[in-house]
Amino acid sequence: MNITIIGAGYVGLVTGVCLASVNHDVIVLDIHEKKVDLLKQGISPIYEPGLEPLLKQQLQDHKMTFTTDYHEACNQAEIIILAVGTPSKQDGSSDLSFIKSAAEEIGAQLMKNGTIIVTKSTVPVGTNKKIKGWIQNRLSGPYHFSLASNPEFLREGSAIHDTFDGDRIVIGADSQAAAAKLEEMHRPFNVPVLHTSIESAEMIKYASNAFLATKISFINEIANICEKLGGNIEDVAHGMGMDSRIGPHFLQAGIGYGGSCFPKDTNALVQLAGDIDHKFELLESVIKVNAKQQVSLVNKAREHFGSLSGKKAGVLGLSFKPNTDDIREAASIEIVKQLLAEGVAVTVYDPVAIDNARSVLGESVSYGEHLFDSIEDQDMLFIATEWEEFKVLRLKTIAKLMKNPAVFDGRNCFSLEEAKETTVDYYSVGRPAVI
Ligand code: NAD
Repeated sequence: MNITIIGAGYVGLVTGVCLASVNHDVIVLDIHEKKVDLLKQGISPIYEPGLEPLLKQQLQDHKMTFTTDYHEACNQAEIIILAVGTPSKQDGSSDLSFIKSAAEEIGAQLMKNGTIIVTKSTVPVGTNKKIKGWIQNRLSGPYHFSLASNPEFLREGSAIHDTFDGDRIVIGADSQAAAAKLEEMHRPFNVPVLHTSIESAEMIKYASNAFLATKISFINEIANICEKLGGNIEDVAHGMGMDSRIGPHFLQAGIGYGGSCFPKDTNALVQLAGDIDHKFELLESVIKVNAKQQVSLVNKAREHFGSLSGKKAGVLGLSFKPNTDDIREAASIEIVKQLLAEGVAVTVYDPVAIDNARSVLGESVSYGEHLFDSIEDQDMLFIATEWEEFKVLRLKTIAKLMKNPAVFDGRNCFSLEEAKETTVDYYSVGRPAVI
């Protein structure tokens, strides 16, 4: 099939490369010229395991091209997939301006009947109706097109695996023919397909992310209570997860969720509910709990030292989770900002996210070239992301390198037994402090 993807970000690029690798002819369009130039050379502008070699292969096999030209991208496409960003507006609702301008460009370039326009971006229920209007307003002739919602569930860090081996593909289309064609497009992925209405498909994405965020805030609250009453959250979560009605996933206590999806999508769902006068109290609490959880380690550090002013801190891990360079809404950034506000000199380290962090933190912090740069001679060490290279470190080594070995581990990377054998004052989440 001739498929066009609009937006070469985490979702659009991975989707494009995977569709090309199962023999579709794919054009990916982005308005960001530098990104498109890099992609034409087979260089991925994002860090995603396995992506770059697969991209190079598709270019070599002539299955994939990149462009900034809407005419070239849209006029012959059988299927056009919208994968542009839908960031949060100030009030938390979804900013649809990228979707609108992409839809208008598509409308202006449609030159044949039967194109299916698919929304993969996460958009509020009802957006596909707006997209239809934005396209129609720009059509240069009486062309007929179909619409579908096909929300994306990939996780950064395992995006290619998730595309080929996901739990489900959700298709909400406005005609049976469009639904059948989209099912055919996905067939090589061998993932179960669920057909729904467009509105249900749009809601499945928000409801899924909101539910996962709820699980995270729930276990973090149980962790906070364990810290005060006694109990070890690892054992508690294990015991809960053995119940098949609960399941073991998403029960890791830590410093909260981040990334480009959960914070934005939970806020958007609260706003969406508010628009129809429904106060989504449960989700509002989930969001509040997460905001507190992100800086909970700094509170522990303040209690430990009395005052943080004039101290030196290392922060290991900046990406919102391992195996990605995405720092959007990462707990690490909140921790760094809080430390700086309290007069702490901060040195950060991340294996792949330093460039992205620099664009947010600028010269307010020092950047370690090696992870030891964030540990050596520091008064305190924060672990914000559970990268494998941090987990294989030994607390004994950390103790030797630090001035006052105080470790605030937001991802429970080390066992309490190991901490007890060292001179490190060790604080983690939902487990007793070792001091
Ligand atoms: P991103 O910010 O990484 O990429 C978006 C891309 O769209 C950028 O490259 C940008 O230059 C481009 N763009 C913006 N306006 C454009 C326009 N008018 N025409 C063409 N290109 C345009 O975003 P992302 O993380 O890939 O997310 C895209 C959508 O998918 C969002 O709605 C997001 O919520 C959803 N989603 C993301 C993930 C994820 O893990 N990142 C997972 C599931 C769903």
